[in-house]
Amino acid sequence: MSTVYTNIAELVTNDPTVGDGSPLGLLTDAALVVDDGVVSWVGVRGGAPAADDSVDLQGAAVIPGFVDSHAHLVFAGDRAHEFAARMAGVPYDGGGITTTVAATRAATDAQLSANLARLSAELRRSGVTTFETKSGYGLRTPDEVRSLRIAREFTTETTFLGAHVVPAEYRENRDGYVRSVAGEMLHECRPHARWIDVFCERGAFDVDEARTILEAGAAVGLTPRLHAAQLAPGEGIRLGVELGAASVDHCTFATDADIEALASASAVTVATLLPGAEFSTRAAYPDGRRFLDAGATVALATDCNPGSSYTTSMAFCMAIAVRDMGFTPAEALWSATAGGAAALRRRDVGGLAVGQRAHFAVLDAPSHLHLAYRPGVPLIADVIAG
Ligand SMILES: [Zn+2]
Repeated sequence: MSTVYTNIAELVTNDPTVGDGSPLGLLTDAALVVDDGVVSWVGVRGGAPAADDSVDLQGAAVIPGFVDSHAHLVFAGDRAHEFAARMAGVPYDGGGITTTVAATRAATDAQLSANLARLSAELRRSGVTTFETKSGYGLRTPDEVRSLRIAREFTTETTFLGAHVVPAEYRENRDGYVRSVAGEMLHECRPHARWIDVFCERGAFDVDEARTILEAGAAVGLTPRLHAAQLAPGEGIRLGVELGAASVDHCTFATDADIEALASASAVTVATLLPGAEFSTRAAYPDGRRFLDAGATVALATDCNPGSSYTTSMAFCMAIAVRDMGFTPAEALWSATAGGAAALRRRDVGGLAVGQRAHFAVLDAPSHLHLAYRPGVPLIADVIAG
């Protein structure tokens, strides 16, 4: 079954070999042919081959579906009151995670699954066609396992984050918790995860603990990614690069040396910036320009979680990146699509080149520029994904 989508005012392919030759591979007055869920042709409208079916997109812009490479979606409850307190001046230190851990442990599988279904639908309506999600609100083996098992029903991109924070019952026995995460908990979670992550930060896990856990994960086939330099500079970014992590996330306090390391590893390790977290904790945004100018591969993601960034909107993150982080609108879109795909080491998504999956969003706008130019406006008119 093939379908030709025609009358596309602007088609973003992320294939620099077509269209305007920019990283976005922009085509104007374009058409797109999909064959069994895969892009089989892109080009100028008049040249499209015949297909079984035809859809007139009436002058809309079409972009690749967003790839949200960093989210924490398996949880119960919310922390709206903590947000309100923070906006009234209480600083963010990550301590509220324990509130969500208690709620998550107390929830049934059906409640966790229903909440994830709701967020998954919300992501889809926001134009996200691929998303990652982490465990990390269970922090004991059965709850981490069920978090990942439930996550797997919604996405293949599941990440074991037993090392989110040290749970209260291990506060006097950090080493014991690290041993558990890198041992028994990892062993039980491994069948349900593709990635392993550590929150490497003051108040969470130090760089030696992060190394122990990530190396243990890598030894059993999970690929590392990590949270680093969100609240203060540290050694986490360089650890991620050294271990060949797929992504180092936050990077808010990246030093020049960190950025050099990320740039030299740009084919392996992506710098994932999460401006929803700075927005919701009223912190300073990272300067995306430093990463982009150095040549790092940069992704934007939502970091959707009930504490520090409760948004599923990639367009919102892009608008911040453009307004306050030095991105051009084109760079923000690339980072929210192809950049996210790179952070998940996926070649089949994140673009609309021939051979990639036909995952795309139809905008209620004639150009991708409107995503940052019209912040807060629901411009995702339709989402096609397989
Ligand atoms: Zn996170």
